[in-house]
Amino acid sequence: MTNPILADWQTPFEIAPFADIKDDDFAPALEQALAAHKAEIEVIRDNADAPTFANTIEAEEAVGEALNKVLSVFFTVAGADSNPKREELQRAFSPLIAAHFAEISSDKILFNRVKAVWDQRDALDLTPEQDRILMLAYRNFVRSGGALEGNDEVRMKEIKGRLATLGTSFTQNLLADERDWFMELSEDDLESLPQFAIEAARAAGAEKGAAGPVVTLSRSIIVPFLQFSPRRDLREIAYHAWAARGANGAETDNRAIAAEILALREERAKLLGYANFADYKLETEMAKEPAKVRELLMAVWGPAKAQADADADVLTAMMQSDGVNGPLAAWDWRYYAEKRRKAEHDLDEAELKPYLQLDRMIEASFDCANRLFGLEFSPLDIPLYHEDCRAWDVTRNGKHIAVFIGDYFARGSKRSGAWCSAMRAQAKFPKVQSPIVINVCNFAKGDPALLSYDDARTLFHEFGHALHQMLSDVTYESISGTSVARDFVELPSQLYEHWLEVPEVLAKFATHAETGETMPNAMLDKVLKAANFDMGFQTVEYVASALVDLAFHDGDAPADPMAKQAEVLSEIGMPDAIGMRHATPHFAHVFAGDGYSSGYYSYMWSEVMDADAFSAFEETGDAFDPERAQALEEHILSTGGSQDAEALFLAFRGRLPGVEALLKGRGLTPA
Ligand SMILES: [Zn+2]
Repeated sequence: MTNPILADWQTPFEIAPFADIKDDDFAPALEQALAAHKAEIEVIRDNADAPTFANTIEAEEAVGEALNKVLSVFFTVAGADSNPKREELQRAFSPLIAAHFAEISSDKILFNRVKAVWDQRDALDLTPEQDRILMLAYRNFVRSGGALEGNDEVRMKEIKGRLATLGTSFTQNLLADERDWFMELSEDDLESLPQFAIEAARAAGAEKGAAGPVVTLSRSIIVPFLQFSPRRDLREIAYHAWAARGANGAETDNRAIAAEILALREERAKLLGYANFADYKLETEMAKEPAKVRELLMAVWGPAKAQADADADVLTAMMQSDGVNGPLAAWDWRYYAEKRRKAEHDLDEAELKPYLQLDRMIEASFDCANRLFGLEFSPLDIPLYHEDCRAWDVTRNGKHIAVFIGDYFARGSKRSGAWCSAMRAQAKFPKVQSPIVINVCNFAKGDPALLSYDDARTLFHEFGHALHQMLSDVTYESISGTSVARDFVELPSQLYEHWLEVPEVLAKFATHAETGETMPNAMLDKVLKAANFDMGFQTVEYVASALVDLAFHDGDAPADPMAKQAEVLSEIGMPDAIGMRHATPHFAHVFAGDGYSSGYYSYMWSEVMDADAFSAFEETGDAFDPERAQALEEHILSTGGSQDAEALFLAFRGRLPGVEALLKGRGLTPA
């Protein structure tokens, strides 16, 4: 019998037949699919004909269908509905998949064919999209070291292997430090903590086998403790332990690892012909050069620091009127900021929640997509991998566009967070395929299910990613949907969050679960204002981390990263009472892997763009302005990675983004 994952899927919209697939089917399916893809690539590589665009670049786009099917089905359930068997499979699969793609990207014969096509590109009369996938194919080979020979090739392999090991050690050390430390609390120490924080402290105590409640270094426990505990002495102890993660001087110390990682990254970049690692890393991003990143971060730094300094004065006065003398410390900021928040913007989550029903917020996200892009959503009754999943047929003028799946509720088998993925990405080659897109969230179940305001933003955020997939209209799958630069990929999602804040949207869809009444204006006002509270602090702690990350990779690798960190912080005048959001010994974004190395800035880069892009709508006086919506679809949502990100933004906006809209959105005053 054919493996159900590899069979032709005779289902509506060719959605994976989840009900027929058993966990035991995954390993044999992956083995067969990897072998099939390897054989397909070998046919392209060993072709006796001279290399052409069609028989090399386009041919690679056309293969791998079986592998795509296995990976999409497996990673959908491994993330959203796992079990011990699937976890074990995932541990076994990851190295196999990595080795498979590493083998292809280091294949010299294949590289020479790609290079031959690249060298004749000017004579080929390619479409812009073809030109783009040729450039990407060639560049990916070069960047992964496929063009290196002899000793350089050997050394590159060693560096990659060593970096993978160091990244794993960094993560494990950090986990060990976070796991090992806890502080026991007496019943009296729970004074003034909100109920959710007390429950979390008790649960953590039980988990650690302690006699009573404890504070741990998990962000969800220590941050509320720093916010709510009036015990300054305990806040100080907890804060020091939190800040010392990865820097305890013992076996789990990450400082030497960070130094070695930075040195190896620099060596790797130089082997590939780049001046330094930041140049290498930013080549594929919209930012392109470290100087542009620094310029953006510094344009935000000044106003953020000015706001933080002003806030520090207010908080210091509050502390002194509490009878505490001396300067405001890092373990005081969150506590006094929380008191101030309560005084200035008291917003009762319990009062707000009944207005934010999940089903109404889904309707709101669909309604905005209807008004902007003419999309219509009709429910589909099809079996998926879990009974909580819901699906819709997405159409425009009666024409099928995509299938959208929402898997909204938290459960033990789902990893935390929220994400969007394409179970099938849009493409027109080698055949036309419409996208199947899924949003996975972790909202609490209820009857009806109610959201916090943050949850509602998350719903809109992930739906923005989904639109980027669903409205994609390109030829080749490798550049469709969200296959764009890292510092561009959050633009559609963060931009879509702005429509939740359009007053007429909440006025229509934020209706009370019991009374059906619309959210009162005063509450709406409070919600919107509270979102900007303590932005000086939040911006400073983030930008400081981003600047340190950039300084580590732009130029020679520092022999002593901690000294370099201190130097950067002193240069920018980091306020004493604010710590970096992530200091070097626990900066997992930068050291656990390569993902955000010299790329931590990209969250803010995207925010600059989304704020600026939304102001394009605001300038017209209509958040649903049809011309702007059409331009957004034409130049950003439909184009995937078919052009350089800067060109796409320029085509939509007529100019590059400035930081003004971001500063305004964060309530910061421009310098
Ligand atoms: Zn996102």
